[in-house]
Amino acid sequence: MALCRRVLRKHLGINHVLKSAIVCHERYLSEYVSAKSQDSVETSDHVLYTQEHFALKDSLKKIIDREINPHVDKWEKEGQFPAHRIFKILGSAGFLGVSKPVEYGGLGLDFSYSVAVAEELGNINCGGIPMAIGVQSDMATPALARFGSAALKREFLQPSITGDKVACLGVSEVGAGSDVASIKTKAVRKGDELVINGGKMWTTNGAQADWMCLLANTSDGPPHKNKSLICLPMNLHGIHIARKIDKIGMWSSDTAEVFFDDVHVPCTNIIGQEGMGFTYQMLQFQEERLWGVANVLTTMEKVVQETIKYTRQRKIFQQPVLYHQVVHFRLAELQTEIELLRSLLYHCTALYIKGNDVTKLASMAKLKAGRLARELSDSCLQYWGGMGFTSDVLVSQFYRDSRVLSIAGGADEVMLSIICKYMDTLPRK
Ligand SMILES: Cc1cc2nc3c(=O)[nH]c(=O)nc-3n(C[C@H](O)[C@H](O)[C@H](O)COP(=O)(O)OP(=O)(O)OC[C@H]3O[C@@H](n4cnc5c(N)ncnc54)[C@H](O)[C@@H]3O)c2cc1C
Repeated sequence: MALCRRVLRKHLGINHVLKSAIVCHERYLSEYVSAKSQDSVETSDHVLYTQEHFALKDSLKKIIDREINPHVDKWEKEGQFPAHRIFKILGSAGFLGVSKPVEYGGLGLDFSYSVAVAEELGNINCGGIPMAIGVQSDMATPALARFGSAALKREFLQPSITGDKVACLGVSEVGAGSDVASIKTKAVRKGDELVINGGKMWTTNGAQADWMCLLANTSDGPPHKNKSLICLPMNLHGIHIARKIDKIGMWSSDTAEVFFDDVHVPCTNIIGQEGMGFTYQMLQFQEERLWGVANVLTTMEKVVQETIKYTRQRKIFQQPVLYHQVVHFRLAELQTEIELLRSLLYHCTALYIKGNDVTKLASMAKLKAGRLARELSDSCLQYWGGMGFTSDVLVSQFYRDSRVLSIAGGADEVMLSIICKYMDTLPRK
């Protein structure tokens, strides 16, 4: 078989698939191909990742297998995972700041390494913990790393990279989610301080966080120019965690509703330029969206593989469920969709690390990821029969957890609006 693989690889390399098939025998070839996953692609053949990306993924996988996956069931039941403990482990190993500046504890690598890490985090056996990690590494911190003062970076970015502080992102409110421009939380200048009143909704890590990257209105100007991003310590007087929200999925990730009642914070806690918060947040969303796509790809791949395994051994009407053409054809279609999404992600990431504006492509990838996750989790769950309706299998966990991808971080319709804007097809007012 090893000889056969070598021959096959050589022949595939010069695109003589038919010749290889003759050498290896048709059945041999199909077995080889069916067993070959993305992971077995020669590292040197990867379109985006180098040996260093793979080395990073490998060492993260070890942490996931040792420190996270054995406890996932317990944390899911408890409705929260110990963010401080897990972030310290990940931070000490460098995984919370792979693309962050070296002077603040990051690894100083480009964003493709964050994408590789996000992909690997998809091996965690639930959606809640990867999402919480992503908030820390790629959702609440990109604007601070790019535009924040040195003092703010020392106080908030550095400990977030090392895992000593837990971060959260406060954008959405009870009355404003998709329409970010309409948020109501106000930060009013009084001398050298801002006085904050209002509240945030759906704050991931909110019940455990040490600081929030808060979007608030700092003036009464036009909605795209009156907002600022502010580093807000969560232990200040006047901050109340109103409740932890009960959800249909992402159980191990705490999601909080937070109120601000005359909270005082120095004006120097504004990230970058005052009034630029909306723009910074829109930029920050690009990394959040690419991160989310990368993360879900791995889980989708795993769910398809587990479904193949299960349906291969589960017999109905004297043959495995998998042998029914409707089943293996459907799984082949889903795998094709995964590969298309992967190509879009890598293309988009490659453009992004070269400094291009990828808003349109990142929005397309996020839209597709949310839709495919829904389609894939529903289709795969179906083939598990009653087992798919139990809480014990990965497919039902994915069914619950992945539903949020079409809603959070910009709903599908928000992605469509952005794409339409770039296509210049939005009706003119
Ligand atoms: C588990 C979870 C974690 C989250 N974590 C965070 C977090 O850490 N920080 C944070 O700030 N927020 C967070 N969110 C909030 C999330 O980003 C918002 O829920 C999301 O932006 C949608 O806002 P909304 O819920 O207010 O829905 P709404 O804005 O009320 O929208 C309702 C629906 O309207 C539709 N819609 C939207 N725009 C259009 C349009 N142009 N045309 C037609 N239909 C449209 C969509 O289908 C949308 O789902 C989280 C949410 C969840 C569920």
